[in-house]
Amino acid sequence: MFKFKVAIHTQIIIGLVLGLVFGVISIFSGWNPAITIDYIKPFGTIFVNSLKMIAVPLVLASLIVGIANLGDVSKLSRIGGKTILIYIFTTMIATGVGLLFVNILQPGKQLPEETRENLMALYDTDASTKQQRAAEIQEQSPLQPFVDMVPENLFSALSDNTAMLQVVFFALLVGIALLNIPKEKGQPVVAFFDGLNDVIIKIVEYIMLVAPYGVFALLASLIVELAGEDTDKALELLYALLWYSMTVIAGLGFMLLIFYPSLFRLFTKINIKDFFKALHPVQLLAFSTSSSSATLPVTMDVVEKKLGVSEQVSSFVLPLGATINMNGTSLYQGVAAVFIAQALGLDLTIGQQITIVVTATLASIGSAGVPGAGMVMLVIVLEAINIPTAGIALIVAPDRILDMIRTAVNVTGDAVVATVVASSEGEMPEGLIRTTNPLAADGSEIEK
Ligand code: ASP
Repeated sequence: MFKFKVAIHTQIIIGLVLGLVFGVISIFSGWNPAITIDYIKPFGTIFVNSLKMIAVPLVLASLIVGIANLGDVSKLSRIGGKTILIYIFTTMIATGVGLLFVNILQPGKQLPEETRENLMALYDTDASTKQQRAAEIQEQSPLQPFVDMVPENLFSALSDNTAMLQVVFFALLVGIALLNIPKEKGQPVVAFFDGLNDVIIKIVEYIMLVAPYGVFALLASLIVELAGEDTDKALELLYALLWYSMTVIAGLGFMLLIFYPSLFRLFTKINIKDFFKALHPVQLLAFSTSSSSATLPVTMDVVEKKLGVSEQVSSFVLPLGATINMNGTSLYQGVAAVFIAQALGLDLTIGQQITIVVTATLASIGSAGVPGAGMVMLVIVLEAINIPTAGIALIVAPDRILDMIRTAVNVTGDAVVATVVASSEGEMPEGLIRTTNPLAADGSEIEK
């Protein structure tokens, strides 16, 4: 269990703010940016790498143990079916919300012709790599995502953080097989992975002790790097794309402030304020690392220990969610696709918008939980509605910042679903239960 004197999310916020301030001061005081890149950035990289280092073993161990502990296959199909249905449902809603906002606010129509041409020219090379990728995707069978799920070599899947879906697939198979062999044979295997799981969770606690410093280093170097690419030009572009960025952020805000709380009201008895309070460190970490996979170890720890979701549910729902459930990403892809169409002066039919809902849902499932993955997968959405993929050039500039925010929404979505599934299984964490007595809902239970 974490024992923090100053709550960990407060420490992380301090790290984050100091990182921002440090970055801004170092730019304006004309410091050599190489100092930040050479001496501060490495600490951020070490921090993220240490989280990534444990992501694969964690997914493997927790999923295997999670399934084996369910006891029988019927429970697995019940919880599994429920989880996947809710994941698909929330992702489609998220894309729909994105479409709603982008159609109402019409950010693409605000972009002056000249700016559009500048953007296209500036990011032309970047976009042509994406186009190449698009051409590759076009040549593939529509069933390719299913082919990609099955590793041809387990060990190469285990050594590739972006192949997490393959690890999930293998872990599911091992878990199901364990349920179907004699108990005494399976027991040592389960005990091994169970022990491994605990060891990894312990390592997460060690890593979290240095999280505030890691976050500081990440933010400080990010600011310096962003500014490095011609500050004036970057600001000018960001300004031109402000309306688009605000549209994405408004949609993400809607998910956080309206959609998730409504789900909570409908399906759980948990106090949403307590939920968000417990989840702060997870959201901040997702924001700083732009990676759901890197955040997963902490998501699991918080969801189990602070929200009281059982290991059975969390160790199945969360690793799966970190790989396939990306509400923030699908929302962003919906907005980005329509924005690009609007900016290029192309009108989309209702049919095309429905295609966006379907393809953005699939593309977000296929996006790895790593920085920038959502933008690469946007190609699939654009292809499906016949919008030139070079249009991605229009939205490259603010992507890093939007990535940070959408990743925070991605991990929130995973935790929400874990809690909803746990509640539907009759797990009702004491102390977090919604009550009409405001004194009992002050969150004191979760700050211990
Ligand atoms: N960075 C996101 C994540 O890890 C994926 C994306 O949208 O780029 O959840």
